[in-house]
Amino acid sequence: MAVTKGNCFLCGKELGKTAMKNHLLKNHTDTTCEQKSYLLKAEGRYDKDYWIYFDVPVSSNLKTVDTFLRRIWLECCGHLSTFSYGNYEEIKKTTKLYTFEEGTQLIHEYDFGSTTETVITFIAKTTRPAQKKPVRLLARNIPPEFVCCVCGKPADYLDVEEMYETDNPFYCEDCADEDEHEFLLPVTNSPRMGVCGYTGEMDDFSFVKPELLN
Ligand SMILES: [Zn+2]
Ligand SMILES: [Zn+2]
Ligand SMILES: [Zn+2]
Repeated sequence: MAVTKGNCFLCGKELGKTAMKNHLLKNHTDTTCEQKSYLLKAEGRYDKDYWIYFDVPVSSNLKTVDTFLRRIWLECCGHLSTFSYGNYEEIKKTTKLYTFEEGTQLIHEYDFGSTTETVITFIAKTTRPAQKKPVRLLARNIPPEFVCCVCGKPADYLDVEEMYETDNPFYCEDCADEDEHEFLLPVTNSPRMGVCGYTGEMDDFSFVKPELLN
């Protein structure tokens, strides 16, 4: 699969993941704004086509990052979650972001049964215009496209039972109605698509105009 591109939510530019990091650092970070923040990247550990750049005040803690990840691509039924360096030692969620060095990578795990793993990279300490909401979404991958295995139209659902048996368990609305499918879940822009009862994000994190972000 080709590497997914994404949109910068501040200016609309469409770029690949690494180019987006450079774009954000060059064009949208400052060292002179009021609020000290941390530019972070989140990506699916095993589905790297799902990625997000966001910033958070350095005075926030990991709990803020956890809440954001749940809202944008994880939450199904309130499972437990944890941060670590990729071992079994849990990093407390009360840990403040400024304590992490630039370049640090953490693994976030959501749901210890059907786990979804996210890699968090601490990219750079930056500053930003003060805003009330702690997390500002800066860029996100464009949703990968899946096609209906029957008719080839854009897919709306996937059949969870067929997920591990066929290459294409995806169906459009019409073809999903035609047949009996007991376990359909919606196509979502998330590494948790098709897992447990995951049905999509809790806020509208689709592309929004900059003035709506604050
Ligand atoms: Zn931009
Ligand atoms: Zn669940
Ligand atoms: Zn179809």
